[in-house]
Amino acid sequence: MSSIEQIRLDFPVLDQLVNGSPLVYFDNAATTQKPKAVLDALQHYYSLDNANIHRGIHSLAERATAAYELTRKKIQQFLHAESSDQIIFTSGTTGGINLVAQTYGRANFQAGDKILVSNLEHHSNIVPWQMIALERGAEVLVIPVSDVGELDMDAYCQILQENTVKLVAVNHVSNAIGTINPIKEMIELAHAHGAKILIDGAQSVAHLEVDVQEFDMDFFAFSAHKLFGPTGVGVLYGKRELLEAMPPYQGGGEMIKEVSFSGTTYNELPYKFEAGTPNIADVIAFSASFDYLESLDKGWVEKQENELLAYATEQLSQIDGLRIIGNAAKKIAVISFLIDGTHPQDIGVLLDKFGIAIRTGHHCAQPLMQRFEIPGTCRASFSFYNTKEEIDRLVTSLKRVKTMLL
Ligand SMILES: *Cc1c(COP(=O)(O)O)cnc(C)c1O
Repeated sequence: MSSIEQIRLDFPVLDQLVNGSPLVYFDNAATTQKPKAVLDALQHYYSLDNANIHRGIHSLAERATAAYELTRKKIQQFLHAESSDQIIFTSGTTGGINLVAQTYGRANFQAGDKILVSNLEHHSNIVPWQMIALERGAEVLVIPVSDVGELDMDAYCQILQENTVKLVAVNHVSNAIGTINPIKEMIELAHAHGAKILIDGAQSVAHLEVDVQEFDMDFFAFSAHKLFGPTGVGVLYGKRELLEAMPPYQGGGEMIKEVSFSGTTYNELPYKFEAGTPNIADVIAFSASFDYLESLDKGWVEKQENELLAYATEQLSQIDGLRIIGNAAKKIAVISFLIDGTHPQDIGVLLDKFGIAIRTGHHCAQPLMQRFEIPGTCRASFSFYNTKEEIDRLVTSLKRVKTMLL
């Protein structure tokens, strides 16, 4: 058995018929599938260790607490963070960005300050900034995107020149068109002009190496479910001095040191930002994602994804009337496309009849769709468990769909 066949066996969901055909799952940018190790970890936790964490003195609570904190350690290692108390559990990338907007933003933004986002952002890296900007009298500015889908770095430098930008919020990789942004350079430039920077890493963690110290990141947010882990878990990394100076986000249990009616003191990092009973089971199961990823050959994963991107780009480009949106020089394995005379939604619905799962629509990036003057796209996004045979099926099915629609 080849290694890809072995790997596909690790993902039980892949082995099924959808509408009578073997499933082709090309919606990995929306959420990745979970290896059996993650499913087993969830089952194991609820079957044997279920307890509330941190406050219990009994054995189950101790086991659950140890497992929960072990995930934090693994994330620290994964991000190359200085220390595990800079790893804050949230509900997702969205949760992490809102935390920074509502605490760092509320404490630091003043009237006239600028918050700089890009035209490539997901709504969750736009709307929280609009909300806090409105509240604080700050303004949201936008880095433009070129026709191929790359950030306009000259414009970026120009906007920073004014030295009024307090915070830059930009994704590492675009979920809608796959562009890999030059974040190392962007971070250096932001810092050179006195701005802090938040990196939305939702799409990069599954594909690229992330080193928060080497890149000198101020904030980095991502979601477990896009890294082969469960839904409902996210991570926010922050520089220690920033996190320490930030007021708490939500009040409640766990985030306090002492509570009294004459005044309450707050807990240390990371607990200051983790009020209430967290998503214990899913955090613990997320640990298995890292073990699983470590069991894979990184070089093979990278090669597999690059080959899938190159092959799919070449094969799809040969379909008459098919136009790829987003042709950045550096991309992850995501292809957004349109077929002349058809609507993305119709293509998605018909592909599903052939068992092929893609995403259609605006991909939570309406300003980017407005930039390209399109209502949305079809998006096929790949993971290392996908194959060239599956891409062949996409191409054949698209040709059939075309004849049905045109
Ligand atoms: C998915 C995604 C988000 C939002 O993640 P949630 O898990 O929905 O919180 C934000 N930014 C990008 C680039 C994404 O791909």
